[in-house]
Amino acid sequence: MDLDARLTVLGSLNMDISVTVPVLPGPGATVLGGAAVIAPGGKGANQAVAAARLGAGSGIRVRMVGCVGDDDFGRTLKAALTREGIDDEAVRTVPAAPTGIAMITVDESGENMITVAPGANHEVGVPEIAALSEPAAAGPARVLVISAEVPVSVILAALGTASAESPGASGGVSDSSETGDPGGARRLTVLNLAPAPAGADIGPILEARPDWLVVNESEAAAVLGRPVGGLTEAARAAADLVAAGARNAVVTAGAAGAACQCEERGLSRTVAAFSVRAVDTVGAGDTFVGALAVALADGIAPGEAVTAAAAAGAAAAARPGTQAGMPRPADIRAATGFEWPLGLVK
Ligand code: ADP
Repeated sequence: MDLDARLTVLGSLNMDISVTVPVLPGPGATVLGGAAVIAPGGKGANQAVAAARLGAGSGIRVRMVGCVGDDDFGRTLKAALTREGIDDEAVRTVPAAPTGIAMITVDESGENMITVAPGANHEVGVPEIAALSEPAAAGPARVLVISAEVPVSVILAALGTASAESPGASGGVSDSSETGDPGGARRLTVLNLAPAPAGADIGPILEARPDWLVVNESEAAAVLGRPVGGLTEAARAAADLVAAGARNAVVTAGAAGAACQCEERGLSRTVAAFSVRAVDTVGAGDTFVGALAVALADGIAPGEAVTAAAAAGAAAAARPGTQAGMPRPADIRAATGFEWPLGLVK
């Protein structure tokens, strides 16, 4: 087995319960909505699904590490992962807490209110950190995606497990023939700080030097303590996140696109969004993160990997549903003309 071709996602699994209503209820009010849609979600699981769909063509296998409760939702979430070909052996069923739930209310204009009950996601801890280093099961995962709906202590420990093996500042995946290290792990960390933890917790995370930090505008604003809106401010924010410790930083800016800053090469790039007719932008960010991780695992250079991730994010926005809308390469081609993962179709 080519253990090198593994991508591990450490993060949350939630069941999303969505209801569309004419107007969002105020405090104390009850509104009648349409039929509830119950579907697998959670940022970690979403990113794993995006990565599995986009990595399949190049033999990248995806492994999910996280926790669910001992209940029907937990079993459904695990089954949804295995249907995508994702290894769910390290998704632990905990007896102490129910499976995480996100209760999503959307009005007719698309405005939403979301309440998350993290449940089992807050049980993620020592066994999951140990799972990241299990030689037999995990192998030297080429890329470790860490998404932030798990305790901060776990994020720090996960960055710690990778730092001893980090490929350094290049932001890409080194080739064993170049390093002369045929069996050595060269794990790259991609940290999606969503949601951004409160102020005091952020310093140590950045100082742990994630290889890639990915945030959207509001998360960048929370980390930097100033508003961030549009591509110019996103580019400035990405540069500041690198100055604060990240080796490479990406700030996504929705329909405007994304900006990235790379420490080693001094590369600073803004990528305008691919033009699509957006029907459902929920999950675009998770698709972007999963796609970026796959592109990096595939050895795509940092700037090009961000462009490929933007194409995937645009395709997700053009398709309905969260996990259901996550694109395969053919969906990206159809929505944007971009030939995943390398470039535009001539
Ligand atoms: P999040 O979902 O985390 O808030 P964004 O909304 O910034 O993340 O979306 C992530 C990426 O997906 C963007 O950087 C962009 O490349 C792409 N994207 C999102 N919305 C659109 C859109 N309406 N049109 C085209 N691309 C989009």
